[in-house]
Amino acid sequence: MSLDNNLNDKSVPLKEKRNSKVVIKAYNLIKDYEIGDFIVRAVDNINIEINEGDFIVIKGPSGAGKTTLLNLIGALDLPTEGEVFSYGVKISDMDHESLAIFRLMNSGFIFQSFHLISTLTAEENVMFPMSLIGERLENQRKVAVDLLKKVNLADRREHLPFQLSSGEQQRVAIARALANNPPIILADEPTANLDKETSLFIRNLFKELKENNKTIIIATHDDFLIELADRIINFQDGKIID
Ligand code: ADP
Ligand code: MG
Repeated sequence: MSLDNNLNDKSVPLKEKRNSKVVIKAYNLIKDYEIGDFIVRAVDNINIEINEGDFIVIKGPSGAGKTTLLNLIGALDLPTEGEVFSYGVKISDMDHESLAIFRLMNSGFIFQSFHLISTLTAEENVMFPMSLIGERLENQRKVAVDLLKKVNLADRREHLPFQLSSGEQQRVAIARALANNPPIILADEPTANLDKETSLFIRNLFKELKENNKTIIIATHDDFLIELADRIINFQDGKIID
């Protein structure tokens, strides 16, 4: 796919075009998974509005639909029914290429199991989202070095993911999520598999991101992260229960 060409696509809100205080608005959102004869309704008619600078925690038991909801909000997946708008632009019916660019410019994703590219070094993993939007190589490297310093991994730049501990891999993943300086950060149980010390470190990073007016949406059970929330969404069986 040719990302460079699509950067000129007027339908994709790039940084300078963002002016809405409403970052995400979802209407009547439904996501069904069809496996064989069974249909699982993972997200069941959700309406949600997220404003700039909100720090939102999605809580709920395993299987509640938290990951599915995050993926819909972040345009990693498309809903079965309903509409998602981000910065006033309808993202729920964009084609794959426009969505890819939208994500690269607007959202940083942090996953429970890191999803680093195993054949790239820590530094190259952080450079990767910048390379996809055509950032100059020397800038990519400079930003990656700065971000790895920020997550306390300046001395791990040349390490491959398998040479890093879980906590270090997650910190590289966070640096990568921040690479294009996206206004929205989505995180799916980012501290679930980590020790308390790393959880606290990550909590403080999120606190700093909040102070920098990032819009943050996290699925988590981590009390350290829950403490930072402006709003907690309790999710069960695909529905918001309060
Ligand atoms: P949570 O993150 O709260 O644990 P998920 O969003 O992962 O919940 O899953 C919600 C429901 O959707 C679960 O019942 C799960 O089995 C089902 N589900 C999730 N992803 C898929 C998929 N890709 N294909 C089929 N079913 C899925
Ligand atoms: Mg999940």
